[in-house]
Amino acid sequence: MSPSRAQQRPRRPQPVSITGRPSDGRVQVMPTDQPPEGATSPDAKPRLSFAVPAARGKAPRHLADLDLAGRKAACKDSGLPSFRADQLSRHYFTHFTRDSADMTDLPAAQREQLCAELLPELITPVRALRADGGRTIKHLWELHDGVRVESVLMRYKERTTLCVSSQAGCGMACPFCATGQMGLTRNLSTGEIVEQVRHAARASAAGELTGGPARLSNVVFMGMGEPMVNYKNVVGALHRLIEPAPEGFGLSARGITVSTVGLVPLIRRLAGEGLPVTLAVSLHAPDDELRDELIPVNSKWKVGELLDAAHDYFLATGRRVSIEYALIKDMNDHAWRAQLLADELNRRDTGWAHVNPIPLNPTPGSIWTCSEVAVQDMFVNTLRRAGITTTVRDTRGSDIDGACGQLATEVLNQERAKTT
Ligand code: SAH
Repeated sequence: MSPSRAQQRPRRPQPVSITGRPSDGRVQVMPTDQPPEGATSPDAKPRLSFAVPAARGKAPRHLADLDLAGRKAACKDSGLPSFRADQLSRHYFTHFTRDSADMTDLPAAQREQLCAELLPELITPVRALRADGGRTIKHLWELHDGVRVESVLMRYKERTTLCVSSQAGCGMACPFCATGQMGLTRNLSTGEIVEQVRHAARASAAGELTGGPARLSNVVFMGMGEPMVNYKNVVGALHRLIEPAPEGFGLSARGITVSTVGLVPLIRRLAGEGLPVTLAVSLHAPDDELRDELIPVNSKWKVGELLDAAHDYFLATGRRVSIEYALIKDMNDHAWRAQLLADELNRRDTGWAHVNPIPLNPTPGSIWTCSEVAVQDMFVNTLRRAGITTTVRDTRGSDIDGACGQLATEVLNQERAKTT
């Protein structure tokens, strides 16, 4: 949906400026000092775009695109009793299967027809890479039209988390993000998002991660794409994730995180959906001068409006907001920026947000590289001293191109190299 059509206007636009602030004597590297990470030519610069290209053919109809009433109607239309929708849904959402051979409680004559009509294959694995001693598995999937997306499954001590893609490519054009360099190919359907989750839930339950069978507990929308640009299908997927069987998987909403670059009207709309999922805001800079260049969408919604909307999200849902902050050497890692971020958060409320600094992958010689350890520590300590809960994100799967969009790009380059 187009954000310009979205309903609410920001309340108090408050530009957050660095003008007149101390520079603490450190170098200031700007995003424009070098072409974007992964750019194919020096002048290649992806442009911010909210346009969603039309898909080549619709994904086949899938049970997960429909609510239970819709599934019952679909059964009826096919001449099958509507209660079969219930049974089929339980196989899918409770036993994570779409294989008719597993469905022995269904009459043999109807099994094949039900699966063919409501459980078509939507995503097929192209590649699976294991890392971190088998506690991380990254998948590259191919969709019905040949388009590819990624998901990453990660096992921790107390939780198992899947990072899903909501779009193929992305139109938000952030210069440090691999997906941002691809542009947007298309939105994923609700079924294509839910299928990533179903595969992960099945793999975890089947003990495919090191450490034996595990229950998938968390889903984060931090793979390829900007979830808010695919709002309707993402909200459909959230319903399937949260609602109990036979409607959906029955995952706890507190274990689900939607991450956004900051489409303010849609953050406000999500707050009103009655789906108390966690909101993550990819802030990456607390001042508009830098964020205008680092996160192109900042040209539409400034830091002040974004933090206001995030705080209102907290008030509406009771969920503490996660502020994502990729630490980039000499660009956004200055102690005064940590202080400015803390001030901007504390000015609104206490305890409503926590900050998640993410070390960028080290790329020596590039401006897109991680902060020095001492600088990272200083940044974190400045936030903590100001009373902000701060946890540095672990860098799971960095040896398998763990960051957003990197595996798809790598496989594409390998295939291009083979054909030339
Ligand atoms: N479009 C959404 C969700 C996808 S990205 C968003 O931006 O929030 C998920 C997170 O990974 C975002 O915080 C994004 O800024 C971050 N990210 C992208 N590329 C990265 C990189 N090279 N290093 C560290 N974090 C990165």
